[in-house]
Amino acid sequence: MTTPTITLPTTDALRERALTALRAVGATPPAGTGLSARSPITGETLFELRADTVDDVDRAVGEAHEAYLTWRTTPAPARGELVRVLGELLREHKSDLADLITIEAGKIRSEALGEVQEMIDICDFAVGQSRQLYGRTIASERPGHRLAETWHPLGVVGVISAFNFPAAVWSWNTALALVAGDAVVWKPSELTPLISIATAHLLDRAIDRVGAPTALHRLVLADRAGGERLVDDARVALVSATGSTRMGREVGPRVAARFGRSLLELGGNNATVVAPSADLDLALPGIVFAAAGTAGQRCTTLRRLIVHTDLADELVERLVGAYGRLPIGDPFDEGTLVGPLVDERAATAMADALERAQAEGGKVVAGGTRRDAPGVYVEPAVVRMPGQTAVVREETFAPILYVLTYDTFEQAVALHNDVPQGLSSSIFTRDQEEAELFLAADGSDCGIANVNIGTSGAEIGGAFGGEKETGGGRESGSDAWKSYMRRATNTVNYSGHLTLAQNVSFL
Ligand code: NAD
Repeated sequence: MTTPTITLPTTDALRERALTALRAVGATPPAGTGLSARSPITGETLFELRADTVDDVDRAVGEAHEAYLTWRTTPAPARGELVRVLGELLREHKSDLADLITIEAGKIRSEALGEVQEMIDICDFAVGQSRQLYGRTIASERPGHRLAETWHPLGVVGVISAFNFPAAVWSWNTALALVAGDAVVWKPSELTPLISIATAHLLDRAIDRVGAPTALHRLVLADRAGGERLVDDARVALVSATGSTRMGREVGPRVAARFGRSLLELGGNNATVVAPSADLDLALPGIVFAAAGTAGQRCTTLRRLIVHTDLADELVERLVGAYGRLPIGDPFDEGTLVGPLVDERAATAMADALERAQAEGGKVVAGGTRRDAPGVYVEPAVVRMPGQTAVVREETFAPILYVLTYDTFEQAVALHNDVPQGLSSSIFTRDQEEAELFLAADGSDCGIANVNIGTSGAEIGGAFGGEKETGGGRESGSDAWKSYMRRATNTVNYSGHLTLAQNVSFL
């Protein structure tokens, strides 16, 4: 069997396209050594960049802290104005930023544009939030007393982000942190420096336009050592870290050791239950997008399909057909649905997982083969498993969908919850009672639980995050803003008498 050929742009063409996008936003990459900007499209280096040192990280935190001291007393709606201007600049440069996301993360054009749209959406959300940093008034037990909560800025927020949402995750954190009155130091993934330079530059332009303190935002282009420096710095009040569970396991205890706050958004091992009453015409595209979209490189990617035994053969057959028609190749091509994996490490992880799955009794029924091309182009795989074996319980950051079967709803939920991670989940069913049970306290144990929709593609309006080894953090919408502020409880006595709580008598 011959492997279909993939036509790709040259590395020179990608370099030129990246430069055009950077010039359009007005940014210049810092030439030097220490960090390579590369593209998974060809797997080759585009530019050599100057990496920041740990001393640069220290300086960035110091400058951001100075800026915070001014920013914290700027009225919140005025802080919102900065985020409004950032949102305008993101709208203006949506296409340029999407180009950089495709070049560095390998996302297809539509998903790259979607990521920038998500950044615009969170800016809109945060602008509204800047007028809604509400505290409560609480009934006091003492006459002539007022008891209330007020919310105040926290300090410097250190944002550590992953390669797969190289810009949106920064914007979830930064838009809210800025309206909350905080300053931000951002250490992006070492795999995606160019999109970070471009977005940071747009924020610099917004800061300049509204006359906010220039050091309110600092970008540090560094590897893990730079991240560790940020994690250990007591001036960083909150470390918001998005990435693998391995990373969170190191970051969480280090921040806790200095009594800092952390917000962890870590790996997922997301599942969809397909119940006997499911509408398969609805389920099929939902499953394929969630499992094969972004080449399986979303934290919310569907990795486990838990199908009722009566439907399993039909659903797998239809999945195999759909997988066989997935266009794989240049993510800039309009027709492509599956772009490259980020690097060779990801390819090895996928091949190892497939090998282990087979050793554990699994059968690869679709995909799994690597295409012959520069860059890592793989056919998304479907693997029927005899049960939830060791490899199924791990997150492999690649497009592998494990299919498991169940007979009773209780079995489905038990299988669903029996993994260490707890990010996203869904059920396809037309049985309302079953849908409600899936969302109930003893149903899905994830931070995200959906009905008749896949596991990926969340909107910014809801709080985003997961339980167990996913880290427990919540970013983005709902009341996630509270993570970026500190709460004070205020008691005001206007009675003219000193009354102690709980009727305590003293003197
Ligand atoms: P990664 O853990 O390798 O790296 C993430 C970031 O952490 C990078 O910036 C890296 O330099 C930094 N880092 C690594 N070790 C560190 C340490 N000890 N101290 C400080 N910083 C450190 O993750 P990745 O490969 O870039 O991204 C894929 C992973 O991210 C997957 O597990 C995916 O599920 C997860 N992810 C989770 C979410 C979520 O919201 N839950 C979102 C996106 C990605």
